[in-house]
Amino acid sequence: MKTNMELLVATHNEHKKEEIQQILGDDFVVKSLTDYHIHEEIVEDGNSFNANALIKAKYCFEKTGVPSLGDDSGLVVESLDGRPGIFSARYAGDHDFAKNIEKVLDEMKDVENRKAYFITVLCYYDENGAKYFDGRVHGDLLTENKGFKGFGYDPIFVPEGYNMTFAQMESQDKNRISHRKQALDLFLDFLKVRD
Ligand code: IMP
Repeated sequence: MKTNMELLVATHNEHKKEEIQQILGDDFVVKSLTDYHIHEEIVEDGNSFNANALIKAKYCFEKTGVPSLGDDSGLVVESLDGRPGIFSARYAGDHDFAKNIEKVLDEMKDVENRKAYFITVLCYYDENGAKYFDGRVHGDLLTENKGFKGFGYDPIFVPEGYNMTFAQMESQDKNRISHRKQALDLFLDFLKVRD
């Protein structure tokens, strides 16, 4: 694998950039849209996780010529026919985590099947086009919040094999098993075989 490979991650979120840098390690120089002085919002109007990840990665590659990574993640709830799904970030209010959780819990009132999974789809885009990698973590949803760490739906999600929510786990522990980590591991495997 090439060392010091520059990778543009299609996000303005420095936290996401750091998390990806931490998982990929020192062989990569991870950059964000802000590092490239790209300030506009990318319109994510695809109708699937793959479509949205592609929109982001392709946009970045076409704009800069730098190999780019787009990601799209969300929570998929079995008893809600897959909702909130691609609408996870704005299910009730745009990035209003408390409101989004409230809406999910409200829709699941009296619902016994609490099964859900988090999914991340990564799209890597370079001069050879698009490649996709995905990761999933299955678990159950509680009926109320537990824990204060993490973000999004973490306070109601208990991963399979654990008796605490993502929001009660240390970030290193979550990052070892998360959907994002699994997808990034597949991406790394791809680069190792390719180079
Ligand atoms: P994004 O595509 O990574 O921006 O994720 C979209 C939305 O999915 C976030 O705003 C969260 O609501 C939800 N989400 C994605 N990953 C996680 C996670 O690891 N924990 C909790 N919520 C998540």
